[in-house]
Amino acid sequence: MSPSTIAAIDLARAIPKAELHVHVEGTLEPELIFQLAGRNGVTLPYDDVEALRKAYAFTDLQSFLDIYYAGASVLLKEQDFYDMAMAYLRCAHADRVVHAEIFFDPQTHTARGVPMQIVIEGLHRACVDAGQELGISAVLILCFLRHLSEDDALATLEAALPWRDRFIGIGLDSSEFGHPPEKFARVFARARELGLRLVAHAGEEGPPAYIRQALDVLQVERIDHGVRSIEEPALVARLASERMPLTVCPLSNLKLKGVQDLARHPLRKLLQAGVCVTINSDDPAYFDGYVTENYAQTIEALKLTPEEVVQIARNSFEASFVDEAQRQQWLDQLQSVVTKFEE
Ligand SMILES: [Zn+2]
Repeated sequence: MSPSTIAAIDLARAIPKAELHVHVEGTLEPELIFQLAGRNGVTLPYDDVEALRKAYAFTDLQSFLDIYYAGASVLLKEQDFYDMAMAYLRCAHADRVVHAEIFFDPQTHTARGVPMQIVIEGLHRACVDAGQELGISAVLILCFLRHLSEDDALATLEAALPWRDRFIGIGLDSSEFGHPPEKFARVFARARELGLRLVAHAGEEGPPAYIRQALDVLQVERIDHGVRSIEEPALVARLASERMPLTVCPLSNLKLKGVQDLARHPLRKLLQAGVCVTINSDDPAYFDGYVTENYAQTIEALKLTPEEVVQIARNSFEASFVDEAQRQQWLDQLQSVVTKFEE
C-alpha cells in the first residue's frame, strides 16, 4: 500500500462521519441470531453460527434477501429489537459514526404477527439510550418492501402513524427488479403530505430509469445506492448539479455481484463528477464490514486520496436530515480532526 493509501485509511478510521444507509435487520450478527432464537424458542434451519455464516455466499440480491428474512424471524419481543439496534449503535460508535439514519422494515415483522408498536418502541428506545450512553445521534426511517403491493405499503404507513414522532422519513427497499419506484407513487405522495423525509433504493440492480423515476415520481431527497447512474452521463450530470446524494454501499455491491471487483466500482468516478457520494454499510452483518471497513476497502481498491476521504465524510453530513446548526457542529469536528492529522 502506498503512503497516501495508508494515510487515507488512518484518516477514515479517525474522522467523525454519518451513516445514512444501514438496515437494522441487516446488522443482526449470527451470534445474536442464535442468542435470540434460544431466548424465544425459535428453531433455525441452521445447526450453528458457523453453518449460518457459511450460507452467506450470495449470488445476487434475491439470494441474500432469502437468508435475511430467515434471520429476522428470531425477532419477536420489544427487547429483541432493542438489543439488535443497540448492538449496531455500539459498532457504529466504535467506527466514529456520530449520526446514524437507520432503516427498518416493519412489514418483515408485522407479517409474522409482531405488532408495529413492539418494533418501533424497541428500536426507538435503543436510539434514545445510545444517545445518552454513547453520545451518538440516531433516528429511524421506515422502509417499505417493494416486492409487496402499494396497498400493503399504504396500510403499513397508516398503522405506523400513532408513532409518527418516532421516525423521520420513509424509504423503499428489497427486490428491485420488476418493482419500479412508480409502483409506490401514492404512498410517497401521502408521506410527503405528512412532512416525512423521502428516500428510495434505486439503481442498485435496477436500471438508471428507476433512479429518474425515484427523483421525478417519488420526489426523493436521497437515492440509496444509485450506482447504475454511471451508465447515463446525463443522469450523473443531473445528480451532480442538484447535489442529489447517493448512499453508496461498496461491500454490499461487491458481495451481491453488482461489481465483480471493488477496483471497478464507480464510486470514484461519481465523486469526481461532483456527485454527493457517501459510503455506508447497508447490511454489515451479512456483507462482512461496518462503515469504516467499507471506507478502508474502497480506499485501497480505488486508491482514494485523504482529500477524497474527507470529501466523502463531509458529504455524509451534507446529505443527512439534521438541522444546519447540528450539521455545522459535526463539520467543525471533522475539520479539527483533519487539521490534527495534517500537523
Ligand atoms: Zn439497502
